[in-house]
Amino acid sequence: MKVLLISTNRSVLPMAVMPAGACIVAEAAERAGHCVRLLDLMFAGQPGPAVREAVETFRPDIVGLSVRNIDNNDMEDTVCFKDDLLSCLHAVRSRTEAPIVLGGAALGIMPEQLLRLTGALCAVTGVGETVFPLLLERLHNKRGFSDISGIACIKDGNFRRTSPDPGDFTGPCPAPDYRRWLNLSAYRSQQATVPIQTRTGCPFQCVYCSYPLIEGRRCSFRSPAGVAKAVARLSGQGLRDIEFVDSVFNASPEHAMNICRELAAIRHGARLQCLEINPLNFDDALAGAMERAGFTGMGITVESASDTVLLRMRKGFTSREVHHAAEVVRRHDIPCAWIFLLGGPGETRDTLRETLAFAEQRIRPGDVAFFNTGIRIYPGTELESIARREGVLSQPAADMLSPVFYLSPRIDRHWIRQELGRSLAGHMNFINMATLGLSCLPAINRTGSALGLRPPLWRFTRFIRRGLRLAGMDV
Ligand code: SF4
Repeated sequence: MKVLLISTNRSVLPMAVMPAGACIVAEAAERAGHCVRLLDLMFAGQPGPAVREAVETFRPDIVGLSVRNIDNNDMEDTVCFKDDLLSCLHAVRSRTEAPIVLGGAALGIMPEQLLRLTGALCAVTGVGETVFPLLLERLHNKRGFSDISGIACIKDGNFRRTSPDPGDFTGPCPAPDYRRWLNLSAYRSQQATVPIQTRTGCPFQCVYCSYPLIEGRRCSFRSPAGVAKAVARLSGQGLRDIEFVDSVFNASPEHAMNICRELAAIRHGARLQCLEINPLNFDDALAGAMERAGFTGMGITVESASDTVLLRMRKGFTSREVHHAAEVVRRHDIPCAWIFLLGGPGETRDTLRETLAFAEQRIRPGDVAFFNTGIRIYPGTELESIARREGVLSQPAADMLSPVFYLSPRIDRHWIRQELGRSLAGHMNFINMATLGLSCLPAINRTGSALGLRPPLWRFTRFIRRGLRLAGMDV
């Protein structure tokens, strides 16, 4: 069959993200004997004409739409990508009646709402490179598909979903030939990294997260040796900036250590990053192993330094682990980004001051602190129930594709803005969502690339902010 895959993500803030999943699925469909074309809309000047032209010239039997984000997760300046998705869908529909299948990270969050919005035939919610070829085979043979693991669809008006098969993820770690599918020089100029996922599932129970609802709490792992091989292969293709995008890199400390050991044992030449480190399993042994493996940047997702908030968010760690992580970071050389989520359940002026005091006193000046305020509420999560109980949310679940955010009713949004503004003004290495939404960021990324700076560019946050302020910008 002729399969047209369209990667619909066009967001370049804070940087363009390579559609790795779409490329992996494209190669899997090819291996299954199909003729595949991938249209990446990231840098398309006019997406509508690009889609129409691709459909007209390729004449696909199946169209796959890969959807990464539903919105920009920013309570203060919300951008919803729903209309962009619908425009793309209408462009496809204006030229073909071929079945449309949805896939991508957003389908792991709100499959039902996206299926109802688009009227697509079905959505792949399991491991794309396994599920999509199976689906193509069934469609080719005009057979039913709703029993395949990791598929969601609307049948007779009812939403149906089969659980993903954890065994689907234990195959070799894919490292597609991105040169075939993407405009790599455009991604490089935007400081993009190549994403690699080493595990699925998450054992944690954060109240705001829908990930364990979809993927389950049981983890499946790629073999550490296979991960190292994939890194070496990508690096050999000149793709040296590689990022591990697991929901939590060290959810299994043993798996993380084994990956680091395998990487340290080979000469891969890559610069590695991971922005999802949990303070719970973070110690000198892991930090040292990451240094030897070739990590040039890491992010610690603490969300808060207050026990009250950490407990209410059900993060599974306390401020003790947060402070311990800061000590470990200080003893090692890997640049670190600290990630905070303000305004969660239980947040008050006192708890927020506690978090800011931690950031101001414990974070190294050369590292970065990133603060987001307000938590996106996803249907089916405990945060949805909390928000309804506290009177913060009234929309029915069906309407939650349009972004809705939680902010603790015990704290005032205006006060948070002021307090955070004070902290940002005194610490040039602190940033918030407004900084990540700066329209000049793509130009900064390009300039960094032209100067030979490699990711992560956030290492230079304090210099970039100072420079922008000297240029008269209020950042
Ligand atoms: S650790 Fe991350 S993926 Fe796991 S439940 Fe919490 S927020 Fe979700």
